[in-house]
Amino acid sequence: MSDRVVVALDVGGTGMKCALVRPDGVVVRTERHPTDAARGPAAVVGTILEVAGGLADKARADGLTPIAVGIAVPGVVDEARGVAVWSANVGFRDVPLRDLTVRRLGLPAALGHDVRVGGLAEARLGAGRGTGHVLFVAIGTGIAAAHVVDGTAAVGAHGAAGEIGHILVRPAGPRCGCGRPGCLEAVASAAAIGRRYAELAGDTADAQVTAAEVAERAAAGEQLAGQVWQEAVEALADGLASGQALFDVATIVLGGGLAQAGDLLLTPLRAALHERMTFHREPQLVAAALGDEAGCLGAALLALDAVGVRDHQEKR
Ligand SMILES: [Zn+2]
Repeated sequence: MSDRVVVALDVGGTGMKCALVRPDGVVVRTERHPTDAARGPAAVVGTILEVAGGLADKARADGLTPIAVGIAVPGVVDEARGVAVWSANVGFRDVPLRDLTVRRLGLPAALGHDVRVGGLAEARLGAGRGTGHVLFVAIGTGIAAAHVVDGTAAVGAHGAAGEIGHILVRPAGPRCGCGRPGCLEAVASAAAIGRRYAELAGDTADAQVTAAEVAERAAAGEQLAGQVWQEAVEALADGLASGQALFDVATIVLGGGLAQAGDLLLTPLRAALHERMTFHREPQLVAAALGDEAGCLGAALLALDAVGVRDHQEKR
């Protein structure tokens, strides 16, 4: 039965990462396509179905048997009903994407949330592998998390579990995109770190820097960058400590763009998190291992789960 594959798509605001994945987690083909979200949600759905159908056809042409389709999308996702409820950057409003896929491709399908399936992949195939209880935290433009227990990510009653970016950490802090001041992602997302640096640096030519540059300048000894970086680390530690109080995980996996700072982030963050642990057991804090493939691999895992296939776990 080694010829079975699932079709996996990770749909983002700008691009779609797509793959054919075997039940043991091995990727046999990858493709990337532009999302071109400005065309509107109906056109994006059309592209998703076309790309998924094309991959299934290519699998058959290569002598493989597509057995299911997994699709990850951003925003609020009702995984039980297979509906993309809401998405700011792709424009979905109550799109029954799973049923549309089943109808178009004639294969079982599963729909998941991009960060939750990314967490699923990191917990089962990546940095959290073998540790059972994992909190995956993606830090990029925003901050979102997935709580994975024994290979299953909690979805929540309304498809919105894991919004750790909206934990209140600084009541008098900057206003969040959600409208409330002081959310974690308004203080410690990559975007927030860049904004804070620009705000404190004032009207100078080199004030517009990315969070990665702030990290590098802090490491090189620049005082302002050091202050901004430490502020973000302290806020992240507050957020992660709340996460640990709620979930008592073995491993916290940090993903997203900010995690690429590696030890510049992990070392001070481990120390700040350690300071905040009282009776809680301290989790391992590690960087994600799968990079930007995590969402696509997670979509594949969701598809495999939908048809009851978990070969990759037997290979541990
Ligand atoms: Zn918020």
